[in-house]
Amino acid sequence: MIEIKVGRGWSAIILDAVVMASALGAWTLTRATRVHGALHLSHTGLVYLTDKELDNLEGWRQVARLRSYYTCEVCGRPGRLRIGKTRARVFCGGHAHLVGELWPEHDGKIFELDNACQRFSPPAGYGDEIQEREDILRRWSEGQAEMRDVCDFLRIDRAEVYYSSLELGFRIHLVEHPHDEEHDEELAQLLGSIPENTRH
Ligand SMILES: [Zn+2]
Repeated sequence: MIEIKVGRGWSAIILDAVVMASALGAWTLTRATRVHGALHLSHTGLVYLTDKELDNLEGWRQVARLRSYYTCEVCGRPGRLRIGKTRARVFCGGHAHLVGELWPEHDGKIFELDNACQRFSPPAGYGDEIQEREDILRRWSEGQAEMRDVCDFLRIDRAEVYYSSLELGFRIHLVEHPHDEEHDEELAQLLGSIPENTRH
């Protein structure tokens, strides 16, 4: 089974790659991760491939990577690499804010980092995914990010957004649906199921 560590906006790209992998037969996709803000596919089974199959495989991995540079990682709509101060991610205009504070010297000037690394020297810890997760959840808890977008980008469900935000000590964001009884009930159930000592 493939381990997917990227947003749901790239699902179609990954699915195409899985179909290609099964067509070639001799290799299996194992992981979909993010490298330099773009999709990186890992696989097994190379030892059994002929040179031609290996070329095909590398070609398809490159195609997937290039497609990811133009596809929003949240929603799958057309996007571009957004260069933030702390991370670079591919988002559409509607989701660009999820990259955090932009880095104006670079944003809109660099569209892929694979060949731009010489003129782009990010600080240590740039792109750290634990920091990013915290930042996105904080944004949600402050009403600056929508629940659906947070779920799709972090690839988690609504319950995990609540749990993780509470664990991080963030105030739960209730402004999204102020008079939504279903929402209140969901929250009450979730809060009731969290052990006392993890509440903040
Ligand atoms: Zn988007």
